[in-house]
Amino acid sequence: MSTSTSSAVKAPVPNSSALKGKIAVITGGGSGIGLAVVERFVAEGAYVFIMGRRQAVLDQAVAALGDNVEAIAGDVTASEDLDRLYARVKAQKGIIDILVTASGIAECASLAETGPEHIDQIFATNSRATLFSVQKALPLMSAGGSVVLIGSIAGFIGTPGYGTYGATKAAVRSYARTWSNELAGRSIRVNTLSPGPIDTSMFDNVSDELRQSAIDMIPLRRLGRATEVAAAALFLASDESSYITGAELCIDGGMAQV
Ligand code: NDP
Repeated sequence: MSTSTSSAVKAPVPNSSALKGKIAVITGGGSGIGLAVVERFVAEGAYVFIMGRRQAVLDQAVAALGDNVEAIAGDVTASEDLDRLYARVKAQKGIIDILVTASGIAECASLAETGPEHIDQIFATNSRATLFSVQKALPLMSAGGSVVLIGSIAGFIGTPGYGTYGATKAAVRSYARTWSNELAGRSIRVNTLSPGPIDTSMFDNVSDELRQSAIDMIPLRRLGRATEVAAAALFLASDESSYITGAELCIDGGMAQV
């Protein structure tokens, strides 16, 4: 995954102040879908903390988006880095209203190619780190707060080469459904956003042939835009979705048909 995310951050967005005064944490907020969510949330009035491993990418996001974004460089698979993130949020703002877990990796490996290292790394990043990102945020989460987990339609459709990736995202769906029940008593909502193929750096290394074959499977006949995922994230993060929890919203041009 690289940083070629310009399509994610340049689209004009309305400013309705839907998140005025809200404090958000977005893992993976330096690029792609996460960055588009950061941009949209800031435009709607939120103060946003982001975490990613590449300092330069984070610096670029902060420089582009201004004073309402704070970056903490770190690896979400490292417990001490998550602790550092939330310690900073606590010291600065004392509360979290919205958490979006957008950090993730997607490496292709067929059944025959899959080794233990691949499995461990992808589960650690996509599933395990999602759990600990949410668990460690909980002491700071406000009543009425919203957790948005970024899943994938790969969690429920079979895509050759993405069996393990899909399994990590199926875990994310399961977590969201379970946690929506566990956290309802605190009025914290938990939902999953499951994108189909979205034109981010995840597609940078994909051949033209594979890109076209993905497009051919999408009823709307194009890849999605990160800004389109961000619009759905805004809905699930805001009070507009106040009676929605444990749900999964597919942003996939009709591909999964669920
Ligand atoms: P990007 O590669 O642009 O975004 C992934 C982000 O996650 C990067 O900013 C990366 O930052 C961060 N990240 C990865 N690993 C770690 C880690 N260990 N610690 C901290 N940050 C990490 O791709 P997308 O925006 O496309 O992906 C975002 C999410 O959307 C992922 O969960 C992905 O699975 C999901 N998704 C994407 C789809 C698509 O077609 N693009 C389709 C369906 C789901 P850094 O490398 O600096 O750490």
